[in-house]
Amino acid sequence: MVIQFRLLMTGVKLEKQRFDERVGICLQELNVTLENELNFADSLGYLLLSGNQSADSSVILEKNSLEAKLNRVLVEKLINKGIRADFTFAITNRYATKTWMKSAGFVEKSFHFDYYNIQLKNRVLARAGEERVLHLDVSNVYKILLGELKFLVIPSISFLIILLICLWFLVKMLRKEERLNAVKNEFINNLTHELKTPVFSISLAINILKQHLETGNLDKARQFLAMIGQENERLKTHIEKVLELATLDSPNYQLEKQSTDLNELVKEVIEGFKIKIEDRNGTLKMALSQRPLMANLDKTHFKNVIHNLLENALKYSLEKVEIMVVSKHFEGSNQLIISDKGVGIPIEHQKKIFDKFYRVPTENLHEVKGFGLGLNYVKKIVESHGGEIYVESDAKNGTSFFIKIPTI
Ligand code: ADP
Repeated sequence: MVIQFRLLMTGVKLEKQRFDERVGICLQELNVTLENELNFADSLGYLLLSGNQSADSSVILEKNSLEAKLNRVLVEKLINKGIRADFTFAITNRYATKTWMKSAGFVEKSFHFDYYNIQLKNRVLARAGEERVLHLDVSNVYKILLGELKFLVIPSISFLIILLICLWFLVKMLRKEERLNAVKNEFINNLTHELKTPVFSISLAINILKQHLETGNLDKARQFLAMIGQENERLKTHIEKVLELATLDSPNYQLEKQSTDLNELVKEVIEGFKIKIEDRNGTLKMALSQRPLMANLDKTHFKNVIHNLLENALKYSLEKVEIMVVSKHFEGSNQLIISDKGVGIPIEHQKKIFDKFYRVPTENLHEVKGFGLGLNYVKKIVESHGGEIYVESDAKNGTSFFIKIPTI
């Protein structure tokens, strides 16, 4: 950006030099014209004669007509050099302490820097009797310069704007990255905690189990064996979640799609899930379509999708567990709806729940365990099957997830 800016400034500076030179030449040519037009030079010289400041009307008329002629000559000279300038002029003595003539609108600023000037020579000098200087004030210098430099200015400014937009995107991405990092760290802490607990419980249970085996207390031993089994299941679920994440993040991940009846998959998953529902004294109702719902599905991943949604329905039904699974042919697609009567998802969080690591914030953070990965996985898998997923939820009626998958 600095280079672009400096380039632009250098361009403007060079163009200004060129412009100054051209104006300088015009003024020199004015002296030549005065030399050729004797009457004009003489009249002007007499008018600028020291002491000739008469307020006589004929003198004033003469002054106005000479001023107009001078103006015409200057316009002509500038246009010949390709300069369409808005200018005013004045004629003063050498040090600009006395002004002899000035055009309408001429503002006396610093006579030295802002104006182009030339000493009027030969006949004018001879008639006036002392040095007279013509000052030219061009008010639209920079407008003219920018107009002439438009092929430098427009690309430069466009380039600067593009750079600024890129910078803005970069900052936005960095911020997003930063947020994601924070969430990732939280996830790692969460995961470590979740993995440690079952591992500790298992080692403790094994020790106690050993003691009971040694003393021959088989009933107690069985109890602890069951506990080890449960903790092992917990561990397995956690590991599966992380593996799901790893699968999706891997660049080589590919789905192995095959023609499958969606209803069959649903039944298979529910079969393995029933025990968990019973454990919570809940109910799970199914209303599957009579005819098969054929789709191209990766069985393993799609079973995980159904499993994740059922698991959530169970997890987020804190009191009564009432899950309903519906499948049907709807608007040319296969539709699967998994509903619960759980805690619901506030509307402002409904869009974000599909983001990686996103969990709806609750007062009691550890009330329901999770990593915020399940729905992200579900969405990615559904979409990579050409389908879509959306949610409808409120605190009173619970949550329903709708999945649409193309039929074959
Ligand atoms: P988590 O491991 O936290 O369950 P998910 O990605 O599966 O991660 O879900 C993201 C968030 O969406 C959850 O933390 C929860 O707040 C909300 N959520 C998902 N399913 C349900 C549901 N059936 N009922 C209520 N809230 C849900």
